[in-house]
Amino acid sequence: MALSCPVCGAGAAPRLRKDEVEIWFCSDCGLGFWLPGPGFDPSALYDASYFGGSEHGPGYDDYAGLEQALRRNFARRLERLGPPERGARLLDLGPAFGYAVDEARRAGWCALGLEISSDAARRAAGAAPIVLGDAARAPFPDASFDAVTLWDVIEHLPDPHAAIGEVARLLRPGGRIALSTGDVGSLAARLSGPRWHLYTLPEHLFFYSRESLRRLLLAHGLRVERLRAEAALYPLGYLVERLRKSLLGRGAARPARWPGSGLAIPVNLFDVVTIQAVREAA
Ligand SMILES: [Zn+2]
Repeated sequence: MALSCPVCGAGAAPRLRKDEVEIWFCSDCGLGFWLPGPGFDPSALYDASYFGGSEHGPGYDDYAGLEQALRRNFARRLERLGPPERGARLLDLGPAFGYAVDEARRAGWCALGLEISSDAARRAAGAAPIVLGDAARAPFPDASFDAVTLWDVIEHLPDPHAAIGEVARLLRPGGRIALSTGDVGSLAARLSGPRWHLYTLPEHLFFYSRESLRRLLLAHGLRVERLRAEAALYPLGYLVERLRKSLLGRGAARPARWPGSGLAIPVNLFDVVTIQAVREAA
C-alpha cells in the first residue's frame, strides 16, 4: 500500500505501531498519521465520558480537575497575542468547557468558542459563549475574526487542510492564528517511540512536526511569526495519569487520589509547540 502525506503530498511509510495501529510518517515534512477503519466517526468520541471518568477509554479521568492549570496556560498564551483592540473578536476552536474563551474575555477579547461536543458545551464555564458546530464548517462570515485559537485541538481534526482553510477564511487580513500541539519530531517523541504520551489513539488523528505545521499554515496564506517549545502547567495527578496510560495501557487500574495530586507544576519536555501565524493580505 502506498500513501501520500495529507499535508504536503509526499510519500509516507509505516514506521511504528501503537495499540495494533500502524502509524505512517511523511518522508518529507515528518507528519505522522494513521488510517481509521470504515465507519469511524471522530466526533462521536467526545461524549460526557471523554471529559471525565474514562479511565478505560479515550479522554480524561477528570477534565474539570485540570481547570486551574489550563486557565493559567491559556492566559499566558493569550498574552502573546498582545492586548486586543477595543471590540477585537477571538474564536476558540474546540474549547471543551470554555476555559480559554473565558480567559480571553477576561483579557479584553470579544471571544466565543465553536465546540463539536454538546456534552462539553453544556458545561461551559462562566459566561463563555459556546456555539455548537464543526471547525471545518464554522457558521460565521468571512474575515469576521481578529484571532482564532486552537489549543491542543488540531491533532483531533480529521481534515487538516479543511480546518486550516476555514481558519484562514474566518481571519481578517492581518489577523492571527495561535495554536498548540505535540511535536512528533521532538527528542522526547523520538526517544519514547510508541510510548510517547501524545500517541493517544483514537482521539489524536495526526502527529504534527514543526515542518508539517509550517507547510499547512503557509498553504492557506498564514505566515508563521513565532514557533516555540513551551513549558505547560500540569497537575501532578494528570502527569501520573498520562504516565500510567502510556506505560501500562488504558486498562490499568486507576489509583486512589492522594493529597497534592491537584498541584500544578510546570513541565517542559520540549515536545509541545505553540505557533502563531498571521494571515497575509490576499
Ligand atoms: Zn508531508
